[in-house]
Amino acid sequence: MNIGAHVSIAGSIANAPVNAERAACECFQMFSRPPQGGPAPVLDDKIVAQFTANMKKHRQAAAYIHTPYYINLASSSPKIRYGSIKVIRDELDRASLLGARAVMTHLGSSKDLGKAQALKKVIEGVGKILDGYTGSAQFLIENSAGAGGTIIGDTFDEIGAIIKAYPRIHIGVCFDTCHAFVSGYDVREKAAVAKTLKAFDKAIGLEKLQLVHANDAKAELGSRSDRHEHIGNGMIGIDGFRALIGAARIHDVDWILETPKDDSDADDMRTLKGIRQSL
Ligand SMILES: [Zn+2]
Ligand SMILES: [Zn+2]
Repeated sequence: MNIGAHVSIAGSIANAPVNAERAACECFQMFSRPPQGGPAPVLDDKIVAQFTANMKKHRQAAAYIHTPYYINLASSSPKIRYGSIKVIRDELDRASLLGARAVMTHLGSSKDLGKAQALKKVIEGVGKILDGYTGSAQFLIENSAGAGGTIIGDTFDEIGAIIKAYPRIHIGVCFDTCHAFVSGYDVREKAAVAKTLKAFDKAIGLEKLQLVHANDAKAELGSRSDRHEHIGNGMIGIDGFRALIGAARIHDVDWILETPKDDSDADDMRTLKGIRQSL
């Protein structure tokens, strides 16, 4: 278990490992392109070499790439769907080039398709993303918070259905603690975490859990409100994070903080490292 956070690529992608070390990260997550849209910065040999050298120099165990915000594989618009497929595949190729371990994405939501139809579109889209893909970076689906329209990926069953549609490809899951909690999966103490992970195992398979997004939640269990809070200050609370870090599979994978960037984000890093140390 390495602990890290989302870091900026301002100036150059090669700066990300530098920023990560400054934030006391052991691993980190970044965008490789503007998250709101626009062209991706070119990854030429020089940038790739700088990035790789900085990973080592600044002692980062792994890099992860988050896809941009506008991804929607469940849209009824083919233009948006195909654009999303292309960008995710491009991010997988870019991650492989940089030696990043994985790319995680939200799946999206649909305003006018029913749930079954939207899920079908997502499954088709995932197949197109991974068709002929031979890169080293792994594709991870992030569980979503369940807010807005017909969101896909807020339940373990939906993620399981997508992954099981492609049994020969190793698709993983990025488990966001806040999103799980506001989607109704309790993680506030040991028994609740065990129950949630049992549900995950049944629907998806615990070995598919490859990464954790560590966020406390401002909103209540099942509220479907995606607002991240500092670790221990939200509705999940410190006992929840102690139970999560103590859970076998979850303890083996990397953790990435996505808590608000303010005066307290250094505390979040210290809190998680403290819990890990105490176990
Ligand atoms: Zn997340
Ligand atoms: Zn979120």
